[in-house]
Amino acid sequence: MSTLNSKTISELAAMLAAGETTSVAITQAVIDRTVAVDGQVKAFLSSDPADALAQAQASDERRAAGQSLGPLDGIPIGIKDTLAVKDQPLRCASKMLEHYVSPFDATCIAKLRVAGAVIWGRLNMDEFAMGSSTENSAYQTTANPWNLETIPGGSSGGSAAAVAAGEAIATLGTDTGGSIRQPAALCGVVGMKPTYGLISRYGLVAFASSLDQVGPFARTVEDAALLMEAMLGQDPLDSTSIAPQGETRYAAALQTKRGPWKLGVPKEFFGEGIDPEVKASIEQAIDWYRDQGCEIVDISLPHSELAVPVYYIVATAEASSNLARFDGVRYTHRSEAANDALTLFTKSRGEGFGDEVKRRIILGTYVLSSGYYDAYYLRAQKVRRLILGDFEKAFEQVDAILTPTSPTPAFKRGERSDDPLAMYLSDVYTISVNLAGLPAISIPSGFTQSGLPIGLQVIGKAFGEADMFAVAHAFEQGHDYWAKTPTL
Ligand code: GLN
Repeated sequence: MSTLNSKTISELAAMLAAGETTSVAITQAVIDRTVAVDGQVKAFLSSDPADALAQAQASDERRAAGQSLGPLDGIPIGIKDTLAVKDQPLRCASKMLEHYVSPFDATCIAKLRVAGAVIWGRLNMDEFAMGSSTENSAYQTTANPWNLETIPGGSSGGSAAAVAAGEAIATLGTDTGGSIRQPAALCGVVGMKPTYGLISRYGLVAFASSLDQVGPFARTVEDAALLMEAMLGQDPLDSTSIAPQGETRYAAALQTKRGPWKLGVPKEFFGEGIDPEVKASIEQAIDWYRDQGCEIVDISLPHSELAVPVYYIVATAEASSNLARFDGVRYTHRSEAANDALTLFTKSRGEGFGDEVKRRIILGTYVLSSGYYDAYYLRAQKVRRLILGDFEKAFEQVDAILTPTSPTPAFKRGERSDDPLAMYLSDVYTISVNLAGLPAISIPSGFTQSGLPIGLQVIGKAFGEADMFAVAHAFEQGHDYWAKTPTL
């Protein structure tokens, strides 16, 4: 059986360049693997093998004509169901968009096409990216490939599971409060959230616009860096996108940036609620960096404990506004039961949205309502500024910050689904990074006794992706956790 599907982008790029394989062979290996295991993993909501093979064929023809487009040319990349891919379904794992097919490509997808990537499949997620376990999908629950009884994390659970299970070489997800990093940690893969504005949000279905960012899942830090290089850049179609600053040839910089670094460890991230095996793994990682000559600095991010409450005000407020467009009139589910305009709105929304989405819309509408706006929304915005201030102060002293990605490893399906607050705490270590707009990456740092992956989070300065990648890459070079794969 072919093992092309479990290789890295850089390995495959070298094989393609040397004429040792073809994009069609790689894409076929990924398709075959998906057919073999996705009945168990359920990472994909839909896929279009014929379309993927046609893209692969075009890549092989380009290469044969001496016109290869670079390291991503011919590599199959899976896409979270919240990013628009022309002529493919875009459902956000919601009944609301059950029959919607996108007429256009998101900017990040268009850029991947320019780099020659093969766009492959639609990956499962929590409905409208709200959740931490992928159990809020209206269609199916994705299993964690390391233990099928457990969840893959969320909301980009399908994107993380697909890489872990070898159903894609790499994937894209989105991260509003941790939705790339937390599932990456729980599935034992690399997942990265860029500085806010570095990647265009055009064609990403908005959840909380001031927090949402697109980012890669991959097997290695280098692969994530290659994907970032292809996707970044200011976009006239997204007024919040920003021209990149500093070093952006991230993959090449891995060879030159070798530390030693000053690394901050925030005491607030090791207190109550952290699983002892997660804590031990992260402490070992910190010791490893120290042994390599890095200076480990104890830092404090004093407003961290307010990050989850602030997030659930800011994110729900923005969601209530963004999701107002799903009204039963335009491209969404339309209730059969309505016979006037108002009931058309209310019934279509009542039928189309799942419970968690409704909960957030209600909460967000409440915090924005007159009389409560000052008490909740405005205050949350002020505390958000304090959280950014904590990071700014810390980064006066250190090059990057090390923390656990998730307080626990993967949990059992159903364990937190009836307890929204327990679910919300899954992102306690990732959310403040979104509130501050910073880049961060999760990389595998070990396994629990029972064989579940653990993730280390490296947080960088704004536009400090090159250093953040280099810090993460150094750890990956010294360990082989990233190369382990689940048996399926
Ligand atoms: N789990 C968080 C939430 O439910 C974060 C989700 C995300 O990053 N999209 O909102």
